[in-house]
Amino acid sequence: MRAYLAGALFCLLTAAAAAAAPSATAPCPDCSLVLIGLDDVRADRVKAASMPRLERFARDAAVFTQAVSPAPWTLPAFVSLFTALHPSHHGVVNRYSDPSVDPPVPAVLGKSAPGARTLADVLRAKGFRTAAFTGGAGLSGASGLSSGFEVYADSRSFGGFDLSVPEALAWLETRKAGERFFLFVHGYDAHGFHAGHFPPEEDERFRSRRDEGIGGARPPADREERGRRERRYDEALGRLDRNLAPLLDRLDRPELRGKVVVAVVGDHGEELFEHGGVDHGLTLYDELLRVPLLLRVPGVKGRRVGFQVRTLDLMPTLLELLGAAPDPALAAQMEGVSLLPALRGETMTLDAFSETDFLLHASLRSLRTADGWKGIYDRRTQKTQVFRPASDPGERRDLAAKAPARRQELEGRILAAFDQEPLAPGAQAVVSGRWKKVREGGEVWLFDLWQDPLRGMSKVQAQRPAAVPPEILEKMRREGYW
Ligand SMILES: [Zn+2]
Repeated sequence: MRAYLAGALFCLLTAAAAAAAPSATAPCPDCSLVLIGLDDVRADRVKAASMPRLERFARDAAVFTQAVSPAPWTLPAFVSLFTALHPSHHGVVNRYSDPSVDPPVPAVLGKSAPGARTLADVLRAKGFRTAAFTGGAGLSGASGLSSGFEVYADSRSFGGFDLSVPEALAWLETRKAGERFFLFVHGYDAHGFHAGHFPPEEDERFRSRRDEGIGGARPPADREERGRRERRYDEALGRLDRNLAPLLDRLDRPELRGKVVVAVVGDHGEELFEHGGVDHGLTLYDELLRVPLLLRVPGVKGRRVGFQVRTLDLMPTLLELLGAAPDPALAAQMEGVSLLPALRGETMTLDAFSETDFLLHASLRSLRTADGWKGIYDRRTQKTQVFRPASDPGERRDLAAKAPARRQELEGRILAAFDQEPLAPGAQAVVSGRWKKVREGGEVWLFDLWQDPLRGMSKVQAQRPAAVPPEILEKMRREGYW
């Protein structure tokens, strides 16, 4: 319940955009849907030279050049994509809701946000046949992502499109003519943990760099190491493009070309040493938040959309495109808005909130405003960085000291959006999930109960272990996301 009340605030913050989006006749009420999830693909590295097949697809698609993810890593980002809820509202912010017990308690959408429906839930209820072929790992169905899918393939770890695309093509052959379907195809081809991304000696170096980052250290990389890492990443995007091509080719065949909405979306980007690190999850800079988002709708002309949108907007957009209007409860759940006005050439004004509590080694919240400002608030230090991404796309110049009024405004909006239980006058403490806000000596402090449980031991609620099979728990451990 609290998640939905909190969601209402995000909706208020984007009310101007919602009000400016008149309902429209669904452009393709008989269409099926293919959703392609490009794991670890950052928007600024998608180029014709390395990804010619995707570039060809883009000619007939709406290409959103400023699409922002609500989270910088796989699990919370995909749960957000499938629910249109921010991570702190769907609650699947890490693989475990409680890592402090043995066995740790996995986070499960049905428990953290009871009643929340996924895109697959909604389309299945409308009679769509549903199937998902994923690379596993963060896409494990155990977290609730498999909800609504009749078929959900997630057995491998960091698998690529070389495996999921043939499975998806085989499934397409089995469908009956005239049956509407929702097919989700996902691949980790660009991920550093994908087999073959690095030669063995570079793989070891990548993993040790990643572990150093998680441990809080970011030793500088020289030009040679940066260049090599960038080349490996671009090579991986090239392989991704080649592995994805058979699916895009199949979707171009006449029997599907005019009958399928095709969405291509990234979940988050990848650090290539821009802020000292590799991999993803620990920061909220644009190399992690800006992702590709392309939408091809039969009968709708391709265009480039240069204003900011959120991947949270994809679910409401797809439902409207497919003529699957949300009921009031679903409309209240979804924190994104339909992007149909953008497909008609209208401008929208959308602010983007993002967050991470990656493995409990970071706790950051950000706001990227439609008018070009960005604030990143660190919940541990209670400090806010301020950037102007349009003129400083690398986010190198922190303007917090030079623009104190802007810093205050951004910080105030971030706190209002994420800290739903402000400390009331006279109150000494309030607990919100794992966070405890305490008034001490005239100051208000925020404590992370998982990092500092003594601060709030009396208030921490014991959690019952979820019924997740031991072999899945073991697989999660092996994949190294804790
Ligand atoms: Zn990912």
